[in-house]
Amino acid sequence: MSLRQHLRVEGVVQGVGFRPHVYRLARSLSLSGFVGNDSQGVFIEVEGEPASLEAFRRQLIESAPPAAYIERLTHRDKPATGETDFTIVPSQAQENIEVLVSPDLDCCPDCLAELDNPADRRYGYPFINCTNCGPRFTIIRSLPYDRPRTTMAEFTMCKACHTEYDDPGDRRFHAQPNACPECGPSLSLPLPEVLAALAAGQLVAIKGVGGYHLACDAFNAHPIRRLRARKGRFSKPFAVMVADLETARQLAYVSPAEEALLSSRHKPIVLLSSRHLLPDEVAPGVDTLGLMLPYTPLHHLLLQQQRALVMTSANLSSEPIISTAEPALDQLADLVVHHDRPIEMACDDSVVRVYREQALPLRRSRGYAPFPVELPFEVPPSLAVGAQMKSTFCLGRGRHAFLSQHLGDLESLETLEFFRRAVAHLSGLYRLEPEYLCADLHPGYLSTRWAEEQSHPVLRVQHHHAHLAALMAEHGLPAESRILGLVFDGTGLGTDGTIWGGELLEAGYADFERKAYLTSVPMAGGDAAVREPWRMAAAHLWAAGLPWPQDAPLVLRQQLERAVNTVPTSSMGRLFDAVAALIGLRRQVDYEAQAAIEIEGLADRTAPGSYGFGYPLDPAPVLSAILTDLAAGCSPGAISMRFHRGLAEACLRLCREHDRGLPVGLSGGVFQNMLLLDLVVTGLENAGFTVLTHRLVPPNDGGLALGQLVIAACQWKGARPCA
Ligand code: ZN
Ligand code: ZN
Ligand code: FE
Repeated sequence: MSLRQHLRVEGVVQGVGFRPHVYRLARSLSLSGFVGNDSQGVFIEVEGEPASLEAFRRQLIESAPPAAYIERLTHRDKPATGETDFTIVPSQAQENIEVLVSPDLDCCPDCLAELDNPADRRYGYPFINCTNCGPRFTIIRSLPYDRPRTTMAEFTMCKACHTEYDDPGDRRFHAQPNACPECGPSLSLPLPEVLAALAAGQLVAIKGVGGYHLACDAFNAHPIRRLRARKGRFSKPFAVMVADLETARQLAYVSPAEEALLSSRHKPIVLLSSRHLLPDEVAPGVDTLGLMLPYTPLHHLLLQQQRALVMTSANLSSEPIISTAEPALDQLADLVVHHDRPIEMACDDSVVRVYREQALPLRRSRGYAPFPVELPFEVPPSLAVGAQMKSTFCLGRGRHAFLSQHLGDLESLETLEFFRRAVAHLSGLYRLEPEYLCADLHPGYLSTRWAEEQSHPVLRVQHHHAHLAALMAEHGLPAESRILGLVFDGTGLGTDGTIWGGELLEAGYADFERKAYLTSVPMAGGDAAVREPWRMAAAHLWAAGLPWPQDAPLVLRQQLERAVNTVPTSSMGRLFDAVAALIGLRRQVDYEAQAAIEIEGLADRTAPGSYGFGYPLDPAPVLSAILTDLAAGCSPGAISMRFHRGLAEACLRLCREHDRGLPVGLSGGVFQNMLLLDLVVTGLENAGFTVLTHRLVPPNDGGLALGQLVIAACQWKGARPCA
């Protein structure tokens, strides 16, 4: 007896070879029916033996193509029609777009084998791809995902490519970016010329998937020095692309979990513990090294000759990554390599660390975006605009929170323009018109200002509450949950008009209470206090009633005493800066959190002891003890370690004092410091607390928009339970 069923598959099921998978599977089980794409995903009808239908549903999931992500599979019975054939039917466009846009995919093993095979017609072709791999998010102009709606529209497939594209049995069936040397994109320069320039120590700008990289030989200090001078980036570490895992292991200590992440399909930059074999210029003053593996065919070709290339986004300091042929490229590089496949949406590389065998994202971008975070409840169509630094935005609808790629620091018109375009692109793809917007409390953030200029209602959300809510959401905590949260970061505006950043909050999605915080000290000179950590050191010493440092100007002291142009701040990030400055690490920083990062690398884990914080979280006794240790000739490594330990002990004490049986969440940029993170997590867990840390979105401001989105949803109409 024959049965017929209608099936619906939702998730990332377009542009990943799903229909051919269904087609082959149905035929192998002698089922008749059809499969097609629509705006919801994939629809299927199958008819045949009941046992075969069951096997079909099981294998549909179990042997799904590698790049597919099945979020939901539903089926219902229908009357059998006696159909005998199985076919792929044309796409149906509908009003509501629910299908998920795939992130860009790294080159697959099948394509790599062809790339290396002299007999293959795509031998050495830098734009080889198939339904299992290639660009996606960065080339899509609109949905449903079909070639005319991508930047591949400009290329007409040759006969050979078309045959593959039309053949359901082919790996390139409906591979929208399908191309070959005959008909597809090409490099502006012959590859041997590019390789020769890299070997000769030149700086080469290379157009990739999400934008241009600046590349040079990672073993040669000269081009790296020139790169720093030209980018105006003097000490922020550069990422290095290595040929393979073996090279990665030579340059850094790589754990199995880190290895898995390096070779995962996301191909992020993974921050590893460095063996310091590359020139210091790559990552001066830090103990970590950011490595990634090749992810485009062009990378594979480049890395066949070079074992390690510095690969950094082509941009001028903190501006967005360059994605079109701009004159700035000629100023940055000795040689510029373009290609003619336009980039619709720029997307920077992602950066991840591994903590306890799990990913701890520092920048969630290429390879991840715009894959949604699945929410524990449904949200109305809405847009959260994020913070100022490490800007991202988040579009929400139903159970999906689409967190954007990393956009940069919203401090220039260029970044603001990129922000606008990225919002328009993503909301356009999903045809998502927000009912309201959510923004930070800070009126000076360009994101807040932009939101207030739109015609929608705007909900303003406190910064540290948003950090904590992002953590709750990524862990899928239900709408009525409450949590105790230590939120330590640089700065964020508090509800009392002061600058917060060393907070113990008790929060739900809709509300929070500030339970305790780092004793506030006056911060003088806003940005200058961030760039010049000695100013924060002086402020902390002054606030603690300790001797004024000899080399700090008296005018600053007068400013603090008279409270002229100062704001009280409880920022933990600024305390780290102050301690770093005190132990002589640096008077100036080139990038935010530099001092805090370096103080972590410096810590001597074997040094005993810890500094005791005052009540409830007062750093004065710590600063005093540091001065005593310094006078006694104690090493900076020991001081750093005692500081970290003391802070972790204070965190535990605070959580015990405010313990009502709630889990404890750790968020904010300071928790990118893995030494502190591990001390705090271990201390809390040993005391019996359940501890939540970030795994899907960054603890820094790059994850903030997700928190804003869920808070606003809960305040707006109350969250709706999941359908
Ligand atoms: Zn492929
Ligand atoms: Zn072709
Ligand atoms: Fe923050």
